[in-house]
Amino acid sequence: MHCVLCFWLQSEFNTPLLELIGLENEIKLAERELSDWTKPQPVQKNLLTLTDDVFIKAEPLGVVLIIGAWNYPWGLTLGPLIGAIAAGNAAVVKPSELSKNSASLLKELLPQYLDQEMYHVVTGGVPETQELLKQRFDHIFYTGNSTVGKLVMEAAAHHLTPVTLELGGKSPCYIDQNCDLAVACRRITWGKFSNCGQTCIAPDYILCNASIQNRLIEEIRQTLQEFYGENPKSSPDYGRIINQNHFERVLALMEGCNVAVGGESDKSQCYIAPTILKDVLPHARIMQEEIFGPVLPILTVSDVSEAIRFINDREKPLALYIFSSDKKVIKRMLSETTSGGVVVNDVMIHYTVSSLPFGGVGNSGMGRYHGKHTFDQLSHKRACLIKSLGMESLNKARYPPQTASRLRRARFFMLSRLRSCTHLTFAWAIISTMLALGLFIALLVVLLKVSCPFFPSAGDTFLSV
Ligand code: NAD
Repeated sequence: MHCVLCFWLQSEFNTPLLELIGLENEIKLAERELSDWTKPQPVQKNLLTLTDDVFIKAEPLGVVLIIGAWNYPWGLTLGPLIGAIAAGNAAVVKPSELSKNSASLLKELLPQYLDQEMYHVVTGGVPETQELLKQRFDHIFYTGNSTVGKLVMEAAAHHLTPVTLELGGKSPCYIDQNCDLAVACRRITWGKFSNCGQTCIAPDYILCNASIQNRLIEEIRQTLQEFYGENPKSSPDYGRIINQNHFERVLALMEGCNVAVGGESDKSQCYIAPTILKDVLPHARIMQEEIFGPVLPILTVSDVSEAIRFINDREKPLALYIFSSDKKVIKRMLSETTSGGVVVNDVMIHYTVSSLPFGGVGNSGMGRYHGKHTFDQLSHKRACLIKSLGMESLNKARYPPQTASRLRRARFFMLSRLRSCTHLTFAWAIISTMLALGLFIALLVVLLKVSCPFFPSAGDTFLSV
């Protein structure tokens, strides 16, 4: 049985597991932390601003346009919307036309729960999205492929609107010989074949040494059986490709490849069996674009150095996965590659950690979200400085007529930094101690003068000179 929210696409439990729990977590987090997120944040000062209030205030940007993709129609629209609401923005949500049942349900449900003046759902396809993109927004939050991402950025440039682009690409998965292959394959099989491979952070391909390739194939084959039974087509947990265009696209990518597991398909149901391709060459068609389907190519490399070169020769990925028990291999992979996110010894679970910023780098996107990162992304961080009209003598150093000594003083005041409240308190503590010491000495002098008639007064000193 497939979920009514996204007919043909997801299994009954996928939407709760992969989308709704995450959304619930985001809502609860925002409710719990909002008063902290919106508090003015005091920042480091210099001596020139010692007595001033210097802080950052998060302000709403205005109206945010959220354009979602079809593969997780709830998470990719409501996720950014939660942050947009928390940051005080109004929003227009444009769900994907490809997941049309979810889009209509969203359009029906949202006005029942949210202020209709502030939050709108616009359904429709490319022409509607293009029309929306002609309007002036204060931020555009787009999730989808890189080609359309460039069009979104072009349209945003017209109004100088900032954008968040949550894009995709090929996310590599390197498996080192030195690791528990059975556990690695289990985790990879889950990540790759959930939602029928249509996940932006699914491992796109495997890089491994030739000596472990057959073992990996065997482990994944066994795990597939355990997850989806003998015939994945009849498994309630195995999904379908979103539509016939994508079905044809994924099949075409496999042409000329050596199928080790799966390969069966049924056009009438947009069904493609979980498939593993072995000994895939770097110039094969399947390696030229994001697969976004249940097909897992394995490419062999001699060692970790070749794997690193392979990854670095391509666009910066959205996610990178490393399976190894060797700390040196992990350290090298982390320090010699880059990606939006990286997970060692698992796949995709970084998405569930709200405190980690989720987003791409280079071709896989720009900007980040989840938890407070969404709030930050959709807020304007206003620089605030509130000065009193007193202490004018401190400002002399910056006023004309300038002299070398004033410039020296200005330099001293501006370069000396006092960090946050603790430093400020410390500075005040020093100043008050010095004042108290001064007072004490003055008092001592007065007392000495009273009790000892021979103690010279300022007048005596002046007279004696
Ligand atoms: P899609 O076809 O649903 O398109 C996304 C949105 O773009 C839709 O709302 C659609 O109306 C609009 N659109 C499509 N063509 C347009 C055009 N010519 N002009 C203006 N708007 C247009 O989704 P998709 O692009 O097929 O989504 C899959 C891609 O998204 C994959 O590359 C995947 O990796 C990526 N993705 C990324 C993330 C992430 O969080 N980084 C999440 C999910 C999917």
